[in-house]
Amino acid sequence: MNVSKARAVIVVDVQADFTQYCSGALAVPDTGRDYVAATIKATKDFKKSGLPILATRDYHPADHISFFTSHPGKKPLDVIRIGDRDQVLWPPHCVQDTPGAAILIPSELITAVVSTGDRSEFESYSGFRDDGGRDTGLKELLEKVGARNLIVFGLATDYCVKATVLHALEDGFRVTLVSGLSRGITPEGTEAALAEMEAAGAEIKA
Ligand SMILES: [Zn+2]
Repeated sequence: MNVSKARAVIVVDVQADFTQYCSGALAVPDTGRDYVAATIKATKDFKKSGLPILATRDYHPADHISFFTSHPGKKPLDVIRIGDRDQVLWPPHCVQDTPGAAILIPSELITAVVSTGDRSEFESYSGFRDDGGRDTGLKELLEKVGARNLIVFGLATDYCVKATVLHALEDGFRVTLVSGLSRGITPEGTEAALAEMEAAGAEIKA
C-alpha cells in the first residue's frame, strides 16, 4: 500500500476574515503575514509529498444564526441558548461571495473545498457536519481519496479546528493536529482544546 495515499491534509478555515493579515472581521490573534506564509508553505510541502489537500471554508448566508446582527439587541461575543447548546454570537464573517470568505491558500494547491455553515439556521464549527446533522461531504471526499490518517491545522484551534478533529476521530480517522500551524481565539480556550483533542485520541504535533 502506498502510505502517502492513506493520508490527507485538512486545512481548516484559513480565510481572510479569520486573519489579521487581511484585517478580517473575526481575526484570530497571531494570524499576520508570517502565519499565512507558514500555512501556505506547509501546504505546498504536503502537496509536493503527494497528499490530497482538502480545505474547509466557513461560508455563511448574510443572515446566519451565529451573527450578532441576526439577534436584535445582542452584541458580539454575547452567548445565547439555541436548542440544547450555547451559541457564541460573532461579528458577521465569511459571508458567501464576499472577499472575507476567500481562502488564503492558493487554489492550485487545493484538491477540494468543503463549505460549512451555509444554512442560515445552523452553526457548523465542524468540517464534517453542521449542528443540524447535515453532512458536508468531507467524509465522502476522504473516503474517495482513500485517506484514514489526517493532518489537520488552521483556524481557530478552539472552535472549528477542535470540532473538525473531534468529528474526524469519532468517524474513525487518525488525526495529527499541527498546533504550530493553528491559532486559537483565546489562550485558555486553545489550551483546553488541545487537551480535549489529545484526550480524544489526536496526536498533537508542534
Ligand atoms: Zn462562522
